[in-house]
Amino acid sequence: MHIPFCASKCGYCDFYSIPCPAASTSGRVRLIDDYCDALMLQMEDEGKRVSDCLVDSAYIGGGTPTMLSQRQLLDLLDCLCDNFKVPVDAEITLEANPGTVERFTRRELSALKAAGISRVSMGAQSSQDEELAALGRIHKFSDVRSSFGLLREAGFDNISLDLMYGIPQQTMESFFASLDDIISLRPEHISLYGLAVEPGTPFEAVRDQLILPSDDQMYEMYISAVDYLGSAGYPQYEISNFARPGRESRHNLRYWRGGEYLGFGAAAASFYGRRRTRIARDIDSYINIMRADGNLKPLYDEDEYDSDEDVRQEYIMLRLRLAEGISDSDYLARFGESFADRYQVDLLRLLRGGYMVRENDSWRLTPAGMYVSNYILSDLLDFGEELNV
Ligand code: SF4
Repeated sequence: MHIPFCASKCGYCDFYSIPCPAASTSGRVRLIDDYCDALMLQMEDEGKRVSDCLVDSAYIGGGTPTMLSQRQLLDLLDCLCDNFKVPVDAEITLEANPGTVERFTRRELSALKAAGISRVSMGAQSSQDEELAALGRIHKFSDVRSSFGLLREAGFDNISLDLMYGIPQQTMESFFASLDDIISLRPEHISLYGLAVEPGTPFEAVRDQLILPSDDQMYEMYISAVDYLGSAGYPQYEISNFARPGRESRHNLRYWRGGEYLGFGAAAASFYGRRRTRIARDIDSYINIMRADGNLKPLYDEDEYDSDEDVRQEYIMLRLRLAEGISDSDYLARFGESFADRYQVDLLRLLRGGYMVRENDSWRLTPAGMYVSNYILSDLLDFGEELNV
């Protein structure tokens, strides 16, 4: 479920969200209300279509879902459970901005937990207040500490914190101070993202004025963090994700293992029955369509069916993100050919360069390989296509 509202827009953000600095103004309150109603209408429609599906994970992301009121979040959860088969042990994650968690009382947060939210993912990003300000975040690190404490008091025992590297003016020293501060809170899960200046973001307009860490420093931060987090009890299980054993995100693993998912709301993507769709980044049209006949097809800015070759390439792209990598026997069973034979020249080159290792039945990227996985994958998959010709 995509909630496209934020208190303000962060400088690096290319997620779809609109700033609602004055959510208290009646126009904004009505817009958020109307949007939640539209989400519930979409859930009712989709629930009829896929009534036999077991929804063992859900993710309320954004944007900033904690811009919604407790009542709105409870209504969304009720609607989810009324329209889909949601087992009691489903992993339901709520994304939270540390600057907005304390809008809720401990009692309200406990009620959200009782209603099914089992996991909270909070965008801490850094423990250095000047770095948070440079990113355009609305919070300080003291908000992360207090929100984290409040969530624990409310009973949340599965909390993930996001951390960024490559922040303007960040040094190795300040990055490691952030890592230590995050680890000292003892979350169950940590995500680590490198800052990229994306087209269309506020940062792009001032790119020349940003003092960003060099590529070498970025690489050093990533590689040493993988090691450091592993020693602190957070083994890497995906390019950007680290967890205490057993606390890996079930929802995200579903994406990376090629599972099906349904997306609700403006900008939300779905993959179901080999069909990939993405709803346009347009809150008003989304609300209007859901109020009218619920036919979202004209609003899709992506609508395609995966071919057999798409499925195979997607499998490689997603599996190599994971520390578990690609198992020879699983690949053979799915695609009727040997992964090692098809890509032998590339795989040997990657092994020799230290970008990949082979363990038992599996091929997996090393941390150095994960850091440059985009290049590795485009090389590997282009080679695959040439072989086809
Ligand atoms: S809080 Fe998250 S979604 Fe909202 S503007 Fe900042 S980075 Fe983007």
